[in-house]
Amino acid sequence: MQISHIINFLETIAPPSLQESYDNAGLITGMPEWECTGAIISLDITEDVIEEAIQNNCNLLIAHHPIVFKGLKRINGKDYVSRNIIQAIKKDLAIYAIHTNLDNVIEGVNGKIAKMIGLSDCQVLMPQVGRLKKLICFVPEAQLSTVRESIFAAGAGQIGRYAGCSFSVSGTGSFTAGEGTNPYVGSIGQQHFEKEARLEVVFPAHIQGKVVSAMIKAHPYEDVAYDIYTMDNDHPEYGSGLTGLLAKPMEENAFLGLLKETFQIPVIRHSGLRDKPIQRVSLCGGAGSFLISNAIANKSDIFLTADLKYHDFFEADDRIVLADIGHFESEQFTTDLVYGLLKEKFPTFAVLKTGVNTNPINYFF
Ligand SMILES: [Zn+2]
Repeated sequence: MQISHIINFLETIAPPSLQESYDNAGLITGMPEWECTGAIISLDITEDVIEEAIQNNCNLLIAHHPIVFKGLKRINGKDYVSRNIIQAIKKDLAIYAIHTNLDNVIEGVNGKIAKMIGLSDCQVLMPQVGRLKKLICFVPEAQLSTVRESIFAAGAGQIGRYAGCSFSVSGTGSFTAGEGTNPYVGSIGQQHFEKEARLEVVFPAHIQGKVVSAMIKAHPYEDVAYDIYTMDNDHPEYGSGLTGLLAKPMEENAFLGLLKETFQIPVIRHSGLRDKPIQRVSLCGGAGSFLISNAIANKSDIFLTADLKYHDFFEADDRIVLADIGHFESEQFTTDLVYGLLKEKFPTFAVLKTGVNTNPINYFF
């Protein structure tokens, strides 16, 4: 199996177009057409992880954090990034990063954290806008169902947990076929009126090419009339952070204790407790201080994230409990998530999880 095959599968779950503008998710070293000897998954890339990949005969290393994050001007081994890159290239090791694109899907990094805590009714905390588009096309009524089914097969028509969503209404289309055309109905040079349906379907922006070509392929006309609109609706499954509910309200200290145990966190930094039970939980794996106001607006009892600064804690202002559960600790189960996805899709393929603890932060008690 080629490396591209694995990447293409992962990108159906976490489309690369969902990554943030500052990010560098994707194939960083290696070539997509290489035959994959095995894949190993890690949160970070360190020299130990690269060595582990080589020892286990894996030529694909899938990491959450991109080892190359900003422009590299020198690859001379004087810093850990360039040493890792030199080693990867020397050993024909492909490095693939699945980063903010996996943060920005509801079943991604945050969905995994929510599962570990046992949250239900999960929703994206700050949904993205402009990720949904609408296709409107005009189809002779006899071909309506064929065109509609082709568009659905290409991935359009999904609204929340409902598939096969569309709307159609009958009307009359008009056209005059020009010289050199081969009209499906009507004659060259004569105005023609045809009973047509106006068919409307929504789809995520990143599959536009697939949806439009499926529609054109199934449509009988040689030049198809269609419109694409960018919608301002929130995308229910794409965006930052997540919010959900605990099955039963929990006392604040008991909940912090649960987190400590589940994520093996040596110490949790948190804002003042409010002496109120915790039930609505918002969270964002890794650095999530940009979502504090969303978590407050959402009336969450607590917001779990990492990399909070001193002044961030003041923002709680007795409206919420802010808890910094550690960057590595919050995202550690991402490795299990990617492992589970690959094992399910490619059950007989060699997929490993790193045994290296890559957390660069140590705690002194
Ligand atoms: Zn992170």
